Amino acid sequence: MEVIKEMKKPRIVVLGAGYGGLMSTVQLQKSLGTNQAKITLVNKNDYHYQSTWLHEAAAGTLHHDRTRIDIKDVVNMSKVNFIQDTVVSIAPEQKKVIMENEELEYDVLVIGLGFEAATFGIPGLEEHAFKIGDINSSRVIREHIEYNFAMYNLEEDKKQARINLVVGGAGFTGMEFVGELANRVPELCEEYDIDPAVVRIITVEGAPTVMPGFDPQLVEYAMNSLEARGVEVITSAMLKECKADGIIYEKDGEQIELPTLTTVWAAGVKANSIVEASGFETNRGKVEVRGDMRTPDYDDVFVVGDCALIMNPEAGRPYPPTAQMALQMADVVAHNVKAMIEGSTELETIEPKMLGTVASLGNTDAIGTIMNDRKIYGWTATVMKKVIDNRYLLKLGGIGLLLKKGKFNPFY
Ligand code: FAD
Ligand code: NAD
Repeated sequence: MEVIKEMKKPRIVVLGAGYGGLMSTVQLQKSLGTNQAKITLVNKNDYHYQSTWLHEAAAGTLHHDRTRIDIKDVVNMSKVNFIQDTVVSIAPEQKKVIMENEELEYDVLVIGLGFEAATFGIPGLEEHAFKIGDINSSRVIREHIEYNFAMYNLEEDKKQARINLVVGGAGFTGMEFVGELANRVPELCEEYDIDPAVVRIITVEGAPTVMPGFDPQLVEYAMNSLEARGVEVITSAMLKECKADGIIYEKDGEQIELPTLTTVWAAGVKANSIVEASGFETNRGKVEVRGDMRTPDYDDVFVVGDCALIMNPEAGRPYPPTAQMALQMADVVAHNVKAMIEGSTELETIEPKMLGTVASLGNTDAIGTIMNDRKIYGWTATVMKKVIDNRYLLKLGGIGLLLKKGKFNPFY
């Protein structure tokens, strides 16, 4: 750590402007003077997107521009060197990041490259299923659904597969997405002159219940809310194959084929594969970080967000990869990077606090647990979800960003 203090202007490089990377950068730009360090932020796009709203963009209930924030609106470009480029790999022994267009050397690295869909080697998923991963992949789902609704009445021989919307996995992402679809489909039916009764929204979940592990009462509430809006929930059903014109799932030992031109795979995530491919020591593809958020093998590399794994000793499993966790990690990372730059050996240790979980079921319904597992649902939970989202915007970019991007209508 002394070495860093003695160096002239240490180079801090942050990879990824997601929840973890962007919040770390914003905090570092506030806490470090420009003469103390050179901060560089690298991101694929010149915008940050709120992954937590992408299911809305994918369903078409929220325009994708609402989910994205220009990096220049929250990062002070005179204090941070922003590079729009795609990271290809990291060479930690050489303290180097290889990007598509250039290479970058660092003294301290923060990896915040986020998540990818986990497809578990299931045949056909890579080729034929849509995934809710970023703005581009969400926008194409919205367009694809709309195109198929438009095509449905155009063809003499109407194809049910065009209006069977299948979602693989009913975890939080899958359930939030079908909730949005349930709101969107009536609008699409009106627009494309289709009887809502013939459209099917089907979610296929491998576990015996949706949102496995979540509060059973709230899970039942969620099932009722969605089924009342026409969503078909098939549980204890493992998706086995995805084809261009349908899926095959297994239930009660039987293989069942379901025709669809729209399969959205929402059955789990993994860390950005660049991390493992770059040779870091990993556990399930993620870096099991030390308490101070550094990798086990490199003192100058921090990991933040979905690329990092922290075990929850009480539960005996890792903390779930969430924006909530990414933001808590960012606080510790920003504190510790500053401490290292200033030559301190006192690094903070992360103590994750689960502040609650709230999941939307469309724009007008939600479920959640907050403050010591208090259950909330309906309007209260819908408002709470917006409060959580707005609080993030306020912390990231102040009142200006909140007013520009916040969600204020409690009824929608
Ligand atoms: P991300 O937010 O994934 O950001 C990664 C960044 O890195 C992106 O800007 C990306 O463009 C960039 N990047 C990726 N690869 C490269 C590369 N090669 N080169 C350069 N840049 C790159 N969590 C909650 O707590 N609450 C919720 O309500 C919630 N809802 C969710 C809803 C959906 C639909 C989904 C998919 C997830 C949800 N999550 C939620 C989980 C949450 O979104 C993730 O845990 C969170 O986004 C992880 O943040 P991160 O900083 O690790 O990375
Ligand atoms: P997940 O791992 O939480 O859920 C995946 C679901 O897919 C599980 O229910 C699993 O049983 C099912 N599944 C797996 N393989 C299957 C198969 N072959 N066929 C059918 N079903 C299968 O993943 P997720 O929902 O993508 O969530 C990822 C992370 O993001 C989680 O940590 C989650 O908590 C977080 N998240 C949080 C919120 C929120 O807080 N509101 C919303 C979305 C996501």
